[in-house]
Order: sequence, then C-alpha cells, then structure tokens
Amino acid sequence: MRKKLAAGNWKMNQSLDEGIGLVSNLLELAATKTEYYQNNNVQILLFPPFIHLVLLETLLEGQPHFAYGAQNCSWADKGAYTGEVSASMIHSTGAGYVIIGHSERRQYFSESNRILSEKAQIALKNGLQPVFCCGEVLAEREKGEQFAIVESQLSEAIFHFEEEDIKKIIIAYEPVWAIGTGVTASPEQAQEMHAFIRNLIAKNFSTEIANETSIIYGGSCNAANAKLLFSMPDVDGGLVGGASLIAEDFFTISTSF
Ligand code: PEP
Repeated sequence: MRKKLAAGNWKMNQSLDEGIGLVSNLLELAATKTEYYQNNNVQILLFPPFIHLVLLETLLEGQPHFAYGAQNCSWADKGAYTGEVSASMIHSTGAGYVIIGHSERRQYFSESNRILSEKAQIALKNGLQPVFCCGEVLAEREKGEQFAIVESQLSEAIFHFEEEDIKKIIIAYEPVWAIGTGVTASPEQAQEMHAFIRNLIAKNFSTEIANETSIIYGGSCNAANAKLLFSMPDVDGGLVGGASLIAEDFFTISTSF
C-alpha cells in the first residue's frame, strides 16, 4: 500500500525558537493519533529551512510517523559554491528527503528541468528521497496546456532514471496558480492530473511502480479542504505551505485521510 503523506513546507519562515515551538505543538497533537497514522499508513514530513535540520533529528527521535528533509539541495557534490548546501550534508543531519523543483525555485532561482534532474540524481545518490514538484502556471492551464507542461517537466527531469531510483521519488503536483493564492484546485482537477501522472509512470516504467508511487497535491491545501482533496483515489496527501505553519491546522490535515 502506498504511503499517505502530509508534508509541510515551511519555506523561509520560523526562527529557531519558533520552529521548536511548532514541532513541539505538533508532536503533542499527533500523540493522540498514533493508531490512526499506523492504520492509515500516514507519514508526516517536515521541510524546514536548513537551520532546523539538526534540531529535528533530536526532536523527532522515536517518532515513527514523522520524518524530515530540506527544501532544496545543491546540484554539486561539494566544494567552492558559497551559500550552497549539498545533498550529503543534508543526509548527514539524519534527513531522509529533499524537495526538488518547487515552483518558487523554478521562478526565483531560474532552476531548469536539466538542473532539477541533476539535483534529483545527486539527492538519490546521497540517500535522500526527492519530493519532485511539477505543475503549470495559470496561463498554461487557460490554454489547456497543463498536461503537456507536467509531462515535459517529468520527462526532462526524472523519467530517464533507473527503476530503482524512480521508486524512491514522491511526486508533488502543484499548480502554480494555487500556491499561496488561496485558490485551490478542485478535487476533480487534482484527481484528473494525478491520474494522468500515474498513467505516465505506468507507461514509462510499470503499473506496479505507478501504483506504489505517492503523488501528493500542493496549492492552498488547508484544514478545511484537505479531506475532500485526499478522498480522491489518486491523491495520496498534500504538500502544504502556509497551513503547515499552524500546528492545529497541519495536524488536522494529517488526519484527513
Ligand atoms: C507550497 O509551498 O508547496 C504550497 C503548496 O504552499 P501553500 O500551501 O501555501 O499554497
């Protein structure tokens, strides 16, 4: 059974103290739902800024339903790349995941599918599972190009990977028009795209791999709409920005399967 995922992307928010407070509150709430997480195969993933990663190793020790990762990694192994953080450095904190290809990275840092492919590869090589983001901008959806855009993002970045690697990747469908806007894709729009992505994985790899791949939705997912979105057969959870900064809301999302 593929995993259900509630993934929180804190973006560039939370001081050290605020982050500790947020995780502590979340853990307190989550302690009441251990059986639910177990029975529903739910994993809660936290993606804080780099400064929190070492602390999370301690805070999340002995929490089987929690794991954490970084929001980005360098495409390079190591060396003279001032300001960058490598996949192996992230892995050395105990992190197991990294977000690759968030639309904010594509937009503000000009990350191309080629660079994202390199990042996903180096992440895998260093024991990190990529959460690979894809999604169209509004103008593309208005022209009916959303399927072609998502297919090209996946084909150019990850569909040439070996089966063993593709199995470790989580896909996040994040329509850019829904990220941080308060406009959420309808459950039907999310389902349509998730089914399309699953079908692409089946075509490029196998039905078995497609059925085992978690495909999560991102874009103004919140405590009020998560249940409907997650009730769709191909929506395996959410990548949540704003609502992951409020412990009660993110907890509600994590119990919406
Ligand atoms: C995100 O950052 O991936 C995201 C989906 O943000 P928000 O939930 O705030 O739209």
